[in-house]
Amino acid sequence: MTLGLDHGPVKVILGWEVAKDDCFINLGATSNFPRGCALKPSAGEEFGSDLEDLVPSIFCGKTLLSKGVHDGKCLLTVGRGKGYCQRVRRVLPIIVSAWNVKNSYQPGRRCCNQIYVMANNVPHVVIVGGGFGGLYAAKKLANKPVRVTLIDRKNYHNFQPLLYQVATAGLSPGEIAVPIRGILRKARNVEVLLGEVTSVNLAQSKIQLPPDELDHPGGHPIEISYDYLILGTGASHNYFGHPEWEMLAPGLKTIEDATEIRRRVLLAFELAERSARIEGIQEPINFVVVGAGPTGVELAGTLVEIARRVLASDFRTINPARARVLLVEAGPRVLATYPEDLSHSAERQLKKLGVEVIVNGMVTDVGPDHVQIGADRIPSAVTLWSAGVAASPLGKKLGVPVDRAGRVQVEADLSVPGYPNVFVVGDLAAVTQKNGKPVPGVAPAAIQMGKFAGNTVLNDLKGKPRERFDYFDKGTLATIGRAAAVADFGKVHLSGFIAWLSWLFIHVFFLIGFKNRILVLMEWAWAYFTFQRGARLITGNSNSIVTKAADEMEPVRKVS
Ligand SMILES: Cc1cc2nc3c(=O)[nH]c(=O)nc-3n(C[C@H](O)[C@H](O)[C@H](O)COP(=O)(O)OP(=O)(O)OC[C@H]3O[C@@H](n4cnc5c(N)ncnc54)[C@H](O)[C@@H]3O)c2cc1C
Repeated sequence: MTLGLDHGPVKVILGWEVAKDDCFINLGATSNFPRGCALKPSAGEEFGSDLEDLVPSIFCGKTLLSKGVHDGKCLLTVGRGKGYCQRVRRVLPIIVSAWNVKNSYQPGRRCCNQIYVMANNVPHVVIVGGGFGGLYAAKKLANKPVRVTLIDRKNYHNFQPLLYQVATAGLSPGEIAVPIRGILRKARNVEVLLGEVTSVNLAQSKIQLPPDELDHPGGHPIEISYDYLILGTGASHNYFGHPEWEMLAPGLKTIEDATEIRRRVLLAFELAERSARIEGIQEPINFVVVGAGPTGVELAGTLVEIARRVLASDFRTINPARARVLLVEAGPRVLATYPEDLSHSAERQLKKLGVEVIVNGMVTDVGPDHVQIGADRIPSAVTLWSAGVAASPLGKKLGVPVDRAGRVQVEADLSVPGYPNVFVVGDLAAVTQKNGKPVPGVAPAAIQMGKFAGNTVLNDLKGKPRERFDYFDKGTLATIGRAAAVADFGKVHLSGFIAWLSWLFIHVFFLIGFKNRILVLMEWAWAYFTFQRGARLITGNSNSIVTKAADEMEPVRKVS
């Protein structure tokens, strides 16, 4: 049995280096491993020895030939470490007895002289969803004595607060979405898998993914066991029993939604220009946004800016500034979750920008070219939906109590009732604060929950008692349009330009990746001074706003 390299054996003599939680051992190796080499067992051999077996050969500085390590990643890193042999002598036996490791090797990443090995018997934490909740849970557990598997159906983390900028051609998708794998590249105990989790078996502590249909058509579902599960699959819009409206009035939740909305909005102007050029009449261009929550408000405000400022002089036949933007709200005021004075301020700012606000307007029907509000039929070239919240369907599948929106009613420590090893975080969790109010579905709440769940796992391992999750509300902001926003910082309420500036800097600050922050700031500065929106691309079908888009949506694979 040998553990060898393509280009010869690893000679370990230098000692070790332990990451801050004493979980990773980085053993120095003398060999100059050539680039591109990989560790692999000799044909037909299995590495099954304990780390205990491995230790003596490490101490002796022997060539790492006869001792192997088995299965996993990260506990043990063999690489070009610094020599701290004395500390090895002191700490290694403790680590060995603590984990009693049965390992196997896994070739390292880029650097070919590193093997990441994880003890099998450290807890396996599965995180479903790489949104704010899941991602921050993974960050909390990074390089800690646990093995983490983060699964998301997308390979990127999407900064939802700026989606409306993509939908309105202000930013490109790559400026607000970052590959999850890249964000977690330094978290050596975290692996990232792409896939849509379709069910959770709480009794057996397993989650299920559909088989890879390309490689294994008709194959069996993939099952992954966990010791801890953190579910953060978020929420979407609620069409209140009318799923058929979704094609006619898309909501804004994903990058795909944003580019589809961008397509529809820009196409509405293009088709109007074409028909005006050919038939000599300008069809009215109405944009109807249903739901005056933060997303509806920011969409409506920005659409008006596009029509009146950005496109105003780009067309020769139509006058884009004649387009109407209507914001329809079933309740009595816009931004209903904000204090009343800020709601009224938001409505005033919207009207000043040119948005027509309709409150107490319950939408009763949506068609390809209209929206029905009671007896009124409003012609609509593009209808957008930003009303209601429907939690990810995974919540209901757990078979535990959920609220009307399908959010899981979790315990005070965010665990699922009866399953202390399963946590629900972010928009999928229904959590009540001490003051009796629900924790809002916003990014800071999801981040705090993700960190809390990760920390609770670590506290469990240390034998500490469970704590209760307390949401720390730092305030909420909603942008309305150019230099228009409202901010609720508890006793301090801001409106207008100052609120907009706060909104801008806070959102740029939370964007993931330094490059993205700089790019977004530059785009905004450019747009602010020039009234230009650079990402005005119509991708996909350019003949029809709704019909073809519906065709395009059909192939989406729904996995039950
Ligand atoms: C347009 C828009 C604007 C917003 N603006 C703001 C704002 O300005 N400020 C603010 O604080 N909040 C804002 N929010 C709310 C905020 O984005 C959410 O509260 C936050 O994203 C919730 O985080 P989450 O982790 O619960 O879910 P999400 O961020 O939605 O992440 C869920 C993740 O789970 C993945 N997923 C879903 N189902 C599965 C599955 N079955 N298997 C595998 N992966 C799955 C998804 O791909 C996604 O990556 C906005 C939301 C939207 C939609």
